[in-house]
Amino acid sequence: MSERPNYRPETLAVRAGQERSQFGEHSEALYLTSSFVFKSAAQAAKRFSGEEEGNVYARFSNPTVSMFEKRLAALEGAEDCVATASGMAAIMAAVLAHLQNGDHIVASSGLFGATINLFSNILSRTGISTSFVSQTDPSAWEAAIRPETKLFFLETPSNPLTEIADIRALTAVAHARGILVAVDNCFCTPILQRPLDMGADLVIHSATKYLDGQGRVLGGAVCGSKKLTEEVFKYLRTAGPTLSAFNAWVLLKGLETLKIRIEAQAANALQLASWLEAHPKVARVFYPGLPSHPQYELAKTQQKSGGAIVSFEVKGAREQAWQVVDNCQLLSITANLGDTKTTITHPASTTHGRISPEARAAAGISDGLLRIAVGLEAVEDLQADLERGLSLIGG
Ligand SMILES: *Cc1c(COP(=O)(O)O)cnc(C)c1O
Repeated sequence: MSERPNYRPETLAVRAGQERSQFGEHSEALYLTSSFVFKSAAQAAKRFSGEEEGNVYARFSNPTVSMFEKRLAALEGAEDCVATASGMAAIMAAVLAHLQNGDHIVASSGLFGATINLFSNILSRTGISTSFVSQTDPSAWEAAIRPETKLFFLETPSNPLTEIADIRALTAVAHARGILVAVDNCFCTPILQRPLDMGADLVIHSATKYLDGQGRVLGGAVCGSKKLTEEVFKYLRTAGPTLSAFNAWVLLKGLETLKIRIEAQAANALQLASWLEAHPKVARVFYPGLPSHPQYELAKTQQKSGGAIVSFEVKGAREQAWQVVDNCQLLSITANLGDTKTTITHPASTTHGRISPEARAAAGISDGLLRIAVGLEAVEDLQADLERGLSLIGG
């Protein structure tokens, strides 16, 4: 049914990509097998050479994984998708599929901590260098371009400050110089934002987050044109950062409820963000769905709502922020996000703890900052949980 692109997102999320076996199962089948059997030596030869389509070996082909890839591609409006073992594996695959020794990336200084680490400390060893620039200033991206720049890498809204990168403006700058644009669409998911529709070339996912949505498995994906994903597939086939069939099956089920989850979580987030903004112990709230967000208007042009991540600075520093965290009885103290269970994180000492203090300052991560990934609990219960710690802050 992926050939019928007129279906709405909620329909695609439930139906796209499914291929039934001869047994006529209603739910997607889980193919836990590492290899596939051929009818003859001749067929084996044809499958290996690519002359005949079909599954060979689960490092690069598995029907359950393919169903997940087709469903996510349909939701992103992408021609194709390659699933990977994690979000980081997806970023690595997208970069190594298209860049080589000597090439250069321009990326936002507000990227996810592990992505900054990957670019500065791992990819740099392969001779691929990165310049980090302001998420919100397209002229800084343009100024950072070198003759060897091959990729713009952005994530919007950013983690944890929810800064908005202007996808259309950055794509225009990049495409004028033949530079590819990759967007990490983890926070919005294709339900709230479709970067390919705005001109981006590749969409990256950490499926671990909202696509699973229930904190169970790791997974990732790269979506884009067939031409671009083909290179990602070649990398995956040989390098092997493959999504397991079991995880793909869990993710297929996660996608079925993605729209109702992310919409309900975003509605909760807006309510919580408004409450925090009016709170006397809160210095500042970062949420693109609030008119106080510096890029509220831009956010409205590219994402359907503010999403489900709310960050805020308490009046105080690390001690006061930790006090709020440690007084939570309901919110989970964990670095994961995108779960139905609300989570709270102190970025400066966790997700952004391994980057240098200078890089942290450049990314705007203060010691008083907390990030909440809002889940599906009652907002009143979340407020009561946060109030316990907030009320202890003096002044
Ligand atoms: C979590 C995350 C990643 C990495 O994904 P994993 O599945 O944990 O490898 C990448 N980008 C963003 C924005 C994330 O939140």
